Amino acid sequence: MNYHAKILSAEKDHVLLKNVGKIDPMSIDAYIKAGGYEGLRKALAMDPQKVIEEVSESGLRGRGGANFPTGRKWTFTANAKADQKYIICNADEGEPGTMKDRILMEGDPHQVIEGIIIGAYAVGATKGFIYIRGEYRKSIETITKAIADAEKKGFIGRGILGSKFDFELYVAEGGGAYICGDETALIESIEGKRGEPRMKPPFPPVVGLYGKPTVVNNVETLANVPHIIKNGSAWFTKKGPAGSPGTKIFMLVGDVNDPGVVETTFDRTPMDIIETYGKGVDGAFKFAQIGGASGNIFTAEMMKNPMTYDRMAEMKVSYGTGSIFVANESRNVVEFLSTIARFFEHESCGKCTPCREGTHRIRQIIEKFEFGEGTISDLELLEELALVMKKAALCGLGQACVNPFLDALRYFKGEILAN
Ligand code: SF4
Repeated sequence: MNYHAKILSAEKDHVLLKNVGKIDPMSIDAYIKAGGYEGLRKALAMDPQKVIEEVSESGLRGRGGANFPTGRKWTFTANAKADQKYIICNADEGEPGTMKDRILMEGDPHQVIEGIIIGAYAVGATKGFIYIRGEYRKSIETITKAIADAEKKGFIGRGILGSKFDFELYVAEGGGAYICGDETALIESIEGKRGEPRMKPPFPPVVGLYGKPTVVNNVETLANVPHIIKNGSAWFTKKGPAGSPGTKIFMLVGDVNDPGVVETTFDRTPMDIIETYGKGVDGAFKFAQIGGASGNIFTAEMMKNPMTYDRMAEMKVSYGTGSIFVANESRNVVEFLSTIARFFEHESCGKCTPCREGTHRIRQIIEKFEFGEGTISDLELLEELALVMKKAALCGLGQACVNPFLDALRYFKGEILAN
């Protein structure tokens, strides 16, 4: 089976990837034989509040980049009073260098679906959507078939497995906009509107899809849920260091000898992951960008730190989606920044002025350096623009897309000026 990425880590260390490439993703029977849907059976025998407590105690945090505690998010929706609640699985994976959600959807779709059903039961949602990136045709096809099979087996529908719980699940296709990875833009898109972020508060767990309480979780986050319920929160917390439990899927891209996908625990350092699984850096290491196009730049020294939530917070960085783009000495920093600047100028939805104008001006400034015309005052303006965007942009795109520019000014100012 072709997942467009090689799995580099060892099978014995896998939780989320354990079935990928091992069972037929189109066969629900193969998933059930491998222990699938046991977590759902167990969850349905529990009080929904107990399911939330188990997930809270596991310490699971969102794997889409924001790291928000999953149990706490579920509590907001569970406590909200409404005649209708929703769950949405965010599968609009648009971050450059990131392909973990596609691998999970195409390699083990029922693991994701089982996580969604358990999440829905926990928060009291009777309808759900998987919002899949429109370019992911294979994922859409695989998940659509898996939902139909789950309905036939009684895992989705009325009175699931003899319980009083009813649940419907639908696929929503994205239209190709990066911004729809933002949960409120995604909600607008499902409602049939232009995908633009909403003003917050109110937040979706309380006022979400069609104004109803809506929990939105990433694919990888939800894929963890069946394992946590089936094996218990203590099993989960024992994996990985204190405060950063469970495993994470990291992606090695760029100048790595053997690029691919790795599932491992958070106590690993990025350089250790590259050397252990990716056969090291292809050439001399210059820098890495971790977490996608808006991710922070990591120097060689920073690459020696474990990727725990605490250590990342101390360093004031994030691992975002978990993609690790490696740049060797032959990479030109201005060219690297130019690619990012063009990407975000294109993907800015234009709703707020700081980001609409800021991404445009940043691209123009970086282009001056590409043509050898940039000056120190251009860099001062770039920094000022970036700091304003970080504070004033409406959503995460505008606030975070300046990270690589601010980091490059810190580490590569001389090289940018000399370009
Ligand atoms: Fe749109 Fe950018 Fe403003 Fe977000 S920050 S709302 S992407 S213009």
